[in-house]
Amino acid sequence: MSRYLNSRYAEMEAYVPGEQPRDKKYIKLNTNESPFPPSRSVLEAIDRAVIEDLRLYCDPTCRALREKLGEIYSVSPDCVYLAGGSDDILNFAFMAFGEKGSVYPAISYGFYSVFAALHGSAAEEIPLEDDLSIDPSKYYGKNKLVVIANPNAPTGLLLGLDAIEQIVVSNPDGVVVIDEAYIDFGGESALPLIEKYDNLLVVRTYSKSRSMAGARLGFAFGSPELIADLEKLKYSTNPYNVNAMTQAVGLAALCEDDYYMQNCRTIIENREYTATELRRLGFTVTDSKTNFVFAKTDKMSGAELYRRLREEGILVRHFSTPEICEYNRITVGTLDDMKATVSAIKKILELE
Ligand code: PMP
Repeated sequence: MSRYLNSRYAEMEAYVPGEQPRDKKYIKLNTNESPFPPSRSVLEAIDRAVIEDLRLYCDPTCRALREKLGEIYSVSPDCVYLAGGSDDILNFAFMAFGEKGSVYPAISYGFYSVFAALHGSAAEEIPLEDDLSIDPSKYYGKNKLVVIANPNAPTGLLLGLDAIEQIVVSNPDGVVVIDEAYIDFGGESALPLIEKYDNLLVVRTYSKSRSMAGARLGFAFGSPELIADLEKLKYSTNPYNVNAMTQAVGLAALCEDDYYMQNCRTIIENREYTATELRRLGFTVTDSKTNFVFAKTDKMSGAELYRRLREEGILVRHFSTPEICEYNRITVGTLDDMKATVSAIKKILELE
């Protein structure tokens, strides 16, 4: 750290992204990416015209994407916001709505605490229940920025729409952000509630179900006023935060949504296969509604299993937080990836 860094950031701990190792080829199950490539339309979207247009600034309003997302999700384009990944949207949400403080589960997406610190939002972290679930009533009446990943990460557990609605209703003076990064893998979206509640922001991403983590594209739904607030901050930082190539591929992907939704069904099948196999081996596996499984065994520590899998060329995610340090989060890949993972676990635990 230099002596010039703004003292506000001196003590702040930055987010640590999952490993992207280059030392050898791994079965990479550590950052919840899709094992499937983007659709054909995406492969063809970056044509000569898009490249030639790179000399121009991109459309800061992302008009075409807003209209297409509006059409697909049956909302007005005024209710749609786009940014560089859902991380970018969450950052703006903490910046815009976190002034009175923010509330989120103590075990959830690690970026929430970083954004709270970055924007000076006093954070209240609410512990999970013993079974790792979220008790919605603990979020009632906070009237601050409430942020819930639904399904939650890394537990994979889903809250029903009624529970989400109760949280929104009971916080009329605070914005409730529902981070639906994994909603396409078996959850019910809170999107229909945005018409009823002007304090609800539903955040989505192309990174998981739409196979485009590297393009950095996220979208959110909320009242036109909430969206205008986010736009104001975007125009005060980087109006061009969704570059022209990403806008082109993002639009192309939406023309082949059936392909992505079929991939989600395959991932759900592979998830259930993996969960069943691991339970057969004596693992405790949460009832994940995401594209990962969260599992622990009493035969080996979480850290050791992570290390041994890595030696076998399989990369999963381990968190050292005490409440979940016995678990590993395993992204659901192809069926072959999951069979290889189950075999490696049997070998490591000498269960064959
Ligand atoms: N929310 C949750 C719960 C996540 O797990 C992630 C991905 N790590 C994100 C948001 C951010 O995703 P992205 O910025 O790629 O859209």
